[in-house]
Amino acid sequence: MKLSGWLAPSHNAIELQIEAGAITSLEPVATAAHWLAPGFIDMQVNGFGGVDFNDPATTTEQIAQAIRRLWATGVTHLLPTVITGSHEHLTACFANLVKAADEFPEVAYATLGFHLEGPFISTEDGPRGAHPRAHARPPDWNEFMRLQDAARGRIRLITLAPEWEGALAFIERAVAEKIIVALGHTAATPQQIRDAISVGATMSTHLGNGSHAQLARHPNYIWEQLAADELHASFIVDGHHLPPAVVKCFLRAKGVARSILVTDAIAAAGCPPGRYQFGDLTVEVTPQGRVCLPGTPYLAGSAVQMHEAIANTVKFSDATLSEAIQMATANPAALLGVSDKHGELAAGRPADVVILNETLEVVATVCGGKMVFKRIEYTL
Ligand SMILES: [Zn+2]
Repeated sequence: MKLSGWLAPSHNAIELQIEAGAITSLEPVATAAHWLAPGFIDMQVNGFGGVDFNDPATTTEQIAQAIRRLWATGVTHLLPTVITGSHEHLTACFANLVKAADEFPEVAYATLGFHLEGPFISTEDGPRGAHPRAHARPPDWNEFMRLQDAARGRIRLITLAPEWEGALAFIERAVAEKIIVALGHTAATPQQIRDAISVGATMSTHLGNGSHAQLARHPNYIWEQLAADELHASFIVDGHHLPPAVVKCFLRAKGVARSILVTDAIAAAGCPPGRYQFGDLTVEVTPQGRVCLPGTPYLAGSAVQMHEAIANTVKFSDATLSEAIQMATANPAALLGVSDKHGELAAGRPADVVILNETLEVVATVCGGKMVFKRIEYTL
């Protein structure tokens, strides 16, 4: 297979040669009709297209369907994300995701690990976000090990609140097990943020969200995390979670190399506006694409798609297209330690490629050397 397009970093037109699932060469060509980008990597996906990864009743076929539908958004790799719940619930969700990866090669290929967001988070309204209060609890290493068993050792990222007693010892052990520890859904003091960094926390999850509606202007946990060069930070750039001016300032403060775009997509992402029931949670998707808990000001995940998050990032901030794509490809790949395979278009890498038009809609997606999505109105 041959694909040609403008390469965002260099703005050169190139032709990619793909054989046996891998990129074999990149050759300059005179001109091209579309943009080429590496397959997008989303570190926070709770579900998509009506499929909820947080419901143990979701079938493995439905999980595979969600992965296939994500191809239309340019996402070729992700961390399926399981949020706060009872131990039994979390165990069942991970067992289900593992089973889906066993049964469906496309799920195995797409899954770079799992993200456990909670349950060791703040119980306070605001920082807790839409996570159920009844199940927010202090870190417990033995419980985590049982969850890791259910996930067959594939939990790669855990988001927690470092202010819990015992959190620092927990972070140290997790980091020793090569698990990325992210701070999020936290009401920590700046000192508690620094302490967590000192024992190995390396990320902030959806910085600026999962926080109090009102905060001391300074010092507070947002400034402390923005200032910490040890921390990568993920951002939900859907136009609802963070106002454009905040996106611009946060990305400048964090710098391109440490910024990561996530969708935090919930099952209702990729579905029409309306009310949806997922487990105990009722959410509303407005015609503007805002996902909230009905009757409250609280957001409950997002419905943004990664190509839209990239377009919003270019629109809201002074990031170039190349930089915005980097935040959804090379940066998550680097943090996950998979840069040798993912996040860049280069000879010898698996052929995971997204083709975008001039308005950054996904025209086609190639995953493992196969064209898995293509809009019929386009010729490549
Ligand atoms: Zn969250």
